[in-house]
Amino acid sequence: MKHILTLCFLSFSILFASNVQLIKKENPDSNTTLLVIGGIHGNEPGGYFTASILSQHYNITSKNLWIVPNLNRDSILQNERGIYGDMNRKFLSIKNNDPDKTIVDEIKKIILEPKVSLVVNLHDGHGFYRKKNQGSIFNPNAWGQTCVIDQCQLKQNQIFGNLNDIALNVKNNINQRLLAKHHKFDVKNTQTKYDDEQMQLSLTYFAVTHNKPAFAIETSKNLSSLSQKVFYQLLAIEEYMKIMGITYKRDFTLNEKELAKILKNYGTLTINHNFLLDLNNIKKILRFIPIKSASNDFKFSHSLGEIKESKGVYKVYIGNKLITKLKPQYFKISSNCPESFIVEVDGKQIPIEKASKFFVHDDFKVLGIKGYRVNIIGYSSPHKTDESGLVIRKKDMNKLYSIDKNGSIYRIEFYKEDKFCTMLLVQFK
Ligand SMILES: [Zn+2]
Repeated sequence: MKHILTLCFLSFSILFASNVQLIKKENPDSNTTLLVIGGIHGNEPGGYFTASILSQHYNITSKNLWIVPNLNRDSILQNERGIYGDMNRKFLSIKNNDPDKTIVDEIKKIILEPKVSLVVNLHDGHGFYRKKNQGSIFNPNAWGQTCVIDQCQLKQNQIFGNLNDIALNVKNNINQRLLAKHHKFDVKNTQTKYDDEQMQLSLTYFAVTHNKPAFAIETSKNLSSLSQKVFYQLLAIEEYMKIMGITYKRDFTLNEKELAKILKNYGTLTINHNFLLDLNNIKKILRFIPIKSASNDFKFSHSLGEIKESKGVYKVYIGNKLITKLKPQYFKISSNCPESFIVEVDGKQIPIEKASKFFVHDDFKVLGIKGYRVNIIGYSSPHKTDESGLVIRKKDMNKLYSIDKNGSIYRIEFYKEDKFCTMLLVQFK
């Protein structure tokens, strides 16, 4: 699976090199590249939701940002640290039959790409790190609210090799913007080479032993909300970008409230380019979803979107959140369907592109096309199999069939003989 999307100046591409999703935001002006990795631990949503926001809400205007939003995808779906063991302990050696092997090999290759100048690995860690013991939450063994380095310095003259100075700079600037005093950041140097056998197996140590500057950012698992964790992760990443001279525009103001809004937006899912679901406020289960019995194409607007099929039910996830379950009705898909349809919306005829949503105040009417049958799911017309040409109001619709919890969004499906064509979504305002 490989998607490439190119915009005028900035090139933006998403590559699925079999298992690792890599999103590249690049400019032609420089090879300097920050690699941000989210989701090495599946139960640390602060890290992977941060990476997804970077991928969707930041426009990089100079130099390059690469993002791996969800490294450990299987564990994210189950909200577990590592369903095949701790992935972050597999970077020194890994058995050939380890289920994580493909992913670990791929991310190592990405880290070692000559273009990658600095690596930041995102975590949510326990408690709040303090140099002196102040109880079970605030102590030297806690990881939360730290910039973690494995050692102070890389080889001399290595650009961005002064790990300690960079980490100090990052934490000092984060500490200017704390949401609460006890959230303060510190630098945690694990002295990996001498002191920490466990960390010698980690991703960042793999990077530094290959002379790649690498850091972990740990926000605290004890922060009160996901938006707080993401707030601090983004502050940290923006500091790294500043140090590296990477410039950007984001389409929101960086504060907790705005982040909470963004985090609640799950976007859309398009199936086989012909079926659209709005994942916001969607019902817990949807039935009669017209798909093929195999080789379906699922495309999310959210970079943490995943489908997991089991026993004929398709579970839809955004990160570790189960959003809805789809019960399919298997259809053959017609190959020659119109790209758009004419719908009379509140008395005005407009073309609506297939697999898209339109809004209605009072009523709508789908104009018929010869050879195609229209089925408005949730509307019942006892004498007609084709529901084109009928004026339909919200009160004509049966809420049991809406796709959203409020009874506002409905499916309009088009069939050619016994084959499914495509659909539109109508949302009553
Ligand atoms: Zn972690």
